[in-house]
Amino acid sequence: MTCHRLLLLADMNVPLHVWDRELGLRFRNLFRSCWDRVPADVRQAVLFFWGSKGDGVLPRAEFSDVWGDSHCSCGQVRYSGLEMRFSESAFRALLGPGRTQVNTVEAAAFVIAHELAHVYQKALGFRPGGINEADNEAEADEFATSWGFDDSLFRAIQLVAQEHGDDFEYACKTINSLGGESS
Ligand SMILES: [Zn+2]
Repeated sequence: MTCHRLLLLADMNVPLHVWDRELGLRFRNLFRSCWDRVPADVRQAVLFFWGSKGDGVLPRAEFSDVWGDSHCSCGQVRYSGLEMRFSESAFRALLGPGRTQVNTVEAAAFVIAHELAHVYQKALGFRPGGINEADNEAEADEFATSWGFDDSLFRAIQLVAQEHGDDFEYACKTINSLGGESS
């Protein structure tokens, strides 16, 4: 496996390490389109935070299946908001070849927005983990939905996945077949 270095954003030098270059590029493009949907003041706060806390290695982002929870978690924010990790296999299921369903892409966009919200929490100076983990997660969801990202499809996929051994591929196929032609 080879690691490729992409740039996460157009307006700041944040490396995005990907293993599958083609899928990684699609992820990167989706990330940038989500970034553009986030309010300008949030983007400014994140850029300032990353710019002031960065040390040459961080901030950084990774798109792979080699981090610990990548088989059961779609994304994670670490190092007090300076590292974002995304699960290649989860996004392969959500964005995989041959899938044209716009809705599934919106579920992927929600995951990105949720993780960006965790970075924003850190940019606002919240303690790592917030008051407690549940509050922290609920608030990240609230930020993401307030920015216009729809969580409903992701919730449906997540529910099916959790009932089937965190199998996102299975969950996405099931949701797609339930969605039929209506999407
Ligand atoms: Zn979270």
